[in-house]
Amino acid sequence: MKTEVTVIGGGAAGLMAAITAKKNGRDVVILERKDRILKKVLVTGNGRCNLSNVNATNENYFGIEKQKQDINHILNNFLPTDVIDFFENKVGIICNEESRGKLYPLSGQAASIVDGLRFYAQNLRIPIYTDFYVTKVTKEMFEFKIFSEDKRQINSKKIILATGGISYPELGSNGSGYQIAENFGHSLTKLVPTIVQLKTEKHKIKGLRGIKLDAKVSAFGKNEDKFEKICTYEGELLFTDYGISGNVVFNISFVFPLYKEVEFEVDFMPKFDYNNLFTILKKRREILKNMTMEQYFNGMINKKLGQFLTKMSGIPKLSKNISELTDNEIKKICTILKKYKIKILDTNGFKNAQVTAGGIPLSEINLENLESKKTKGLYFAGEVMDVYGECGGFNLHWAWASGKFAGENI
Ligand SMILES: Cc1cc2nc3c(=O)[nH]c(=O)nc-3n(C[C@H](O)[C@H](O)[C@H](O)COP(=O)(O)OP(=O)(O)OC[C@H]3O[C@@H](n4cnc5c(N)ncnc54)[C@H](O)[C@@H]3O)c2cc1C
Repeated sequence: MKTEVTVIGGGAAGLMAAITAKKNGRDVVILERKDRILKKVLVTGNGRCNLSNVNATNENYFGIEKQKQDINHILNNFLPTDVIDFFENKVGIICNEESRGKLYPLSGQAASIVDGLRFYAQNLRIPIYTDFYVTKVTKEMFEFKIFSEDKRQINSKKIILATGGISYPELGSNGSGYQIAENFGHSLTKLVPTIVQLKTEKHKIKGLRGIKLDAKVSAFGKNEDKFEKICTYEGELLFTDYGISGNVVFNISFVFPLYKEVEFEVDFMPKFDYNNLFTILKKRREILKNMTMEQYFNGMINKKLGQFLTKMSGIPKLSKNISELTDNEIKKICTILKKYKIKILDTNGFKNAQVTAGGIPLSEINLENLESKKTKGLYFAGEVMDVYGECGGFNLHWAWASGKFAGENI
């Protein structure tokens, strides 16, 4: 079979690239290794699909090769308002804005996005070949020859590589796209899991597994010899046996791939400032004067966590009488409640990461059209490139925006 444009990968970026190319008059097919397209989109946003973010700008995106990538023009070519317009007026999906600018389908179902895009592609008569695992691509003269694992072949003038990263491989993105690009002369930056649970120093979380609470977490990154504050998020923090998880960790984990060392500072009492907390704790010394430190945090913070933090603040015996607490000890408790420092040692791996940081370096791609600088006719879209976004709809936004850009320019 011969075609003009072949999109390898039926994920968010691939679908958007194929739809755009087709609408621009290209003869296009989609090849997908799994039995269905958009398998990853189906599980996004806890099955609700946080498809974009009204606040998406260049500031929300990073790269391993270069922290700030030159993708402004690609984002400007498909603004969040364009995403809303596309989904509402072309696909029939009403977008609903939630907290921090996050956009979801009003139906609350990621399946609506999958069905909507599938029907839209079908209406445009874009052939979709599922169970087509591309394992080899060659280029002879001006034509690409694309081979599947089961020896089927498609000849194509141009290809768009939209194979995603290497996270959640069971949903299709197993890193095979990187090898295809490497065979055409591309290199690969370091790959790091992101938007993921994090592993921490064990002694800082020992015995806390299962405790869930609202906390304010600030991330500090060390570049040269100095730690600098990167960002702060407030939300649910969950302690696990290996480290920390929860919304706030997913939001903040984007910093891990960017710095040599990362340290978090947890504020367990975001509702009170330091002085307020000091006053409250001194008052508790009076109210609870006949009790031991075991009861000091009762009704204030999770009991187990309170007892753990008491010990971390340097009070070894919970049998100590509360009335014996000195002002200095209360100050130490305040500091630990407001500025609990935890070193981040690693992530919980690609299997659990929503996104892969790193990929095909943008320096090897012509950013005016997303065509490879190494091989003419080879284009890129989505997460396969060295671009990743923060948590909150930014990664799908990049998939749509880069897919559209590649589809327009091919
Ligand atoms: C659990 C989870 C939740 C997430 N939630 C959100 C969210 O709410 N909001 C958000 O913005 N982002 C979210 N993300 C991230 C987002 O889904 C991805 O960044 C985005 O889907 C990337 O799109 P893509 O098309 O580049 O890659 P993918 O979606 O990974 O698609 C790549 C496709 O290519 C196919 N493929 C790969 N190799 C081959 C090959 N050799 N031959 C043929 N086909 C191949 C794969 O099977 C896959 O279908 C989430 C990710 C996960 C895992």
